[in-house]
Amino acid sequence: MNNDKILEIKDLNISYRQKQNAVSGLSLSIRRGEILTIVGESGSGKSSLIHAVLGLLSSSVKISGTIVYKNKYVLNDFDDKLRKEISGKEIAMVFQDTLSHLDPIKRISYQYDEFITAHEKLTKEECRKLERESLKKLGFEDPDRILDSYPFELSGGMQQRVGIAMALTFNPALLLADEPTSALDVTLQVQVVEELLRLSEDHNTAMIIVTHNMGVAAHISDNIAVMKDGRMVEYGSKEEVIENPKSEYTKKLIEAIPKLDDLRFADRKREVF
Ligand code: ADP
Ligand code: MG
Repeated sequence: MNNDKILEIKDLNISYRQKQNAVSGLSLSIRRGEILTIVGESGSGKSSLIHAVLGLLSSSVKISGTIVYKNKYVLNDFDDKLRKEISGKEIAMVFQDTLSHLDPIKRISYQYDEFITAHEKLTKEECRKLERESLKKLGFEDPDRILDSYPFELSGGMQQRVGIAMALTFNPALLLADEPTSALDVTLQVQVVEELLRLSEDHNTAMIIVTHNMGVAAHISDNIAVMKDGRMVEYGSKEEVIENPKSEYTKKLIEAIPKLDDLRFADRKREVF
């Protein structure tokens, strides 16, 4: 039984000037190696929540509540130095659309070097070694070719896997993935999700995966949280939520799951705790 709590969020409220209560009274926690999926329609506050964890919200946004990392660091008021140490390295992020976070006129190697050296003082050769290893973990057999490419020379699926490789470079304890597969076609969605699962298992990485697809959640999660209008309307183990949903909204989402057998997800049999 492994009870290591990686992240605990208590009574989180987020208000933008133009949108009060984008997130409202939200509490959740995640343990080492756990996969928590956050499901909800567009505008329900999923990205706001993820951005709050990484401190990506601008200072004009009103936040209350607490976000505690490893029972120790209060993320919502930690100083810039600590934030720089933790984000990217201990807590990493995969964006919905990696391409929009890559500079189109710089080779992948250049941007990857920049990302690594922001966290560790490594030489060019050391960076290259780390980059090769990380890309290989994501199934790239010829990492040098990827590193020497410009972003536009890679397909959408490859870009997303590069994004995941970068995020996992330092073996983070927590990976936040905001709709990591919605920009991809279905076959690639399955591949990327399976890679995330494998990596979580291999490295005991906790993951918060945001998706609007209850079918994905039903396959990959240990726990599922359902958000609607900034509130969490459902939160529990995958089995509890799928078999015994409390809210009408969750029931509708479950009914709308397309035939799961059509999606060739790998069987997922593992113990998390
Ligand atoms: P989701 O990721 O679930 O689609 P978001 O967290 O992006 O939801 O948005 C939640 C609500 O907050 C929406 O009503 C959205 O319009 C609003 N919102 C998000 N970001 C901003 C912002 N920077 N300024 C004002 N309103 C915002
Ligand atoms: Mg979003």
